Amino acid sequence: MKHEPLKVLLLSAEVVPFAKTGGLADVAGSLPKALRALGHDVRVAMPRYGRISPDKFELTEAVPRFPVPMEKQMEEASILQGLIAPDVPVYMVENPKYYDRDGIYMYPDDAERFIFFCRSALEMLHHLEWQPDVIHCNDWHTAIVPNWLKTVYKDDPFFRHTASVYTIHNLAYQGVFGYRVLEIAGIAEYGFMYHTEMADLAEVVDFMARGIYFADVLNTVSETYAQEILSPQFGEKLDPLLRDRRERLFGVLNGIDYEVMNPATDKYIAQNFDAGHLDARVKNKLALQQEANLKVDAATPLIGIISRLTDQKGFDILGDTIDHLLDMNLQFVVLGTGDPHYHELFSRVAQAYPGKAAIFLTFNAELAQKIYAGTDMFLMPSRFEPCGLGQMIAMRYGSVPIVRATGGLADTVKDFEPRTGEGNGFSFVPYDRWALFAAIVRAMESYKYQDTWHKLQVRGMTADFSWSASAKKYVELYRRAMEYHEAEPKRE
Ligand code: ADP
Repeated sequence: MKHEPLKVLLLSAEVVPFAKTGGLADVAGSLPKALRALGHDVRVAMPRYGRISPDKFELTEAVPRFPVPMEKQMEEASILQGLIAPDVPVYMVENPKYYDRDGIYMYPDDAERFIFFCRSALEMLHHLEWQPDVIHCNDWHTAIVPNWLKTVYKDDPFFRHTASVYTIHNLAYQGVFGYRVLEIAGIAEYGFMYHTEMADLAEVVDFMARGIYFADVLNTVSETYAQEILSPQFGEKLDPLLRDRRERLFGVLNGIDYEVMNPATDKYIAQNFDAGHLDARVKNKLALQQEANLKVDAATPLIGIISRLTDQKGFDILGDTIDHLLDMNLQFVVLGTGDPHYHELFSRVAQAYPGKAAIFLTFNAELAQKIYAGTDMFLMPSRFEPCGLGQMIAMRYGSVPIVRATGGLADTVKDFEPRTGEGNGFSFVPYDRWALFAAIVRAMESYKYQDTWHKLQVRGMTADFSWSASAKKYVELYRRAMEYHEAEPKRE
């Protein structure tokens, strides 16, 4: 087994601090730093969206314009380079036609936009004369790469020793398109995918399925979710394929960036604090109550939510019970954007309970930190949750999580047991409004005993949710992928 430092190219549609809509961006911005700290040469690639300012991020030109095969013609890309850390470059694929728009996703030509990004990233490597040992692809946007490595690039000597790892951050977003996409990607001659238990697959191009099928190794972002997705309940119709590939499927829990997510140094919050100086924390609660127009009162329990407002996140069961909850002496602050009917739900609640419930329907990283630092509890009643970062960030900031025990939430939050004093939060199992209600009531009860509460907070704050352990697991996956790749027969 090779033990010298690895060369890894990580591909992601979003990367902190350049572009973010969810947890994928956090992972793409922080895992590479942790891998670099282990001595590996890690580089990241993403599109240069119009909203990423070259001046602000001091981007420099890495590769001047070069041709990229798209369908039957050549398009042009150039590469700008920024930095995630002093020794972790990020290559940004530049093409005004595809990326000079306000947003990141949700355009009718998204398939083409991400095919172009991926193809440019592979072609870029020739110009950089940098041959990665592993290309680490993430979610549907970059799932075409393992497919290409096993088809159009199969006999390209440049990629001969390049293995692929494919990470599923969320199986619910598969990137499903029509036949035309195969032509754009230059793989029409290889046709649709077939699977005896998945008749639909023969009629669509499902990028996620291709990543799963072609990658040398795949993983998802917690051990529990890796098991869950083998079942029809969580498998989003891809479970037969995942079961076929189960020997290559692993679960690696995401970490959080302990430099950025640090209540002792966070510049956004009213008062810095750490586990040894928890008394200072209350200033953040009072400042948050003020900013959110809630009744300013240190003693009233304050629950926070920071989330995409979608069905996945459990807001239907919360909606069914939130009026009962607000009859109690507690407060809610919600930060999120998403489905209009959840915007309406939370807006109604904020109006009905002035001083007790506040809603911010925006994406705001600064306010998010204030909520992590200022709330007593952090709620994630998810229907499913591949990993979840919110609960880990909340614990780091002394906000005690209340979660549904699924996926990564089950792996990180252990239900508090008053008799033994074990646990680090509150969790419930059935996806049910009364189970949610009961978990919140239990949290309220425990909150009355400030000594106990203090211990719960310290336990969360001193736990290790950093990347150090998980980055080592990724290195193992990379080496395993390289072994599988080398074991395959090659054409001379
Ligand atoms: P997902 O990737 O499914 O959206 P995660 O819990 O893995 O969920 O990651 C969500 C990340 O996005 C967390 O860092 C959370 O703080 C952040 N986030 C979500 N919504 C917002 C928002 N409206 N404003 C600021 N940050 C947000």
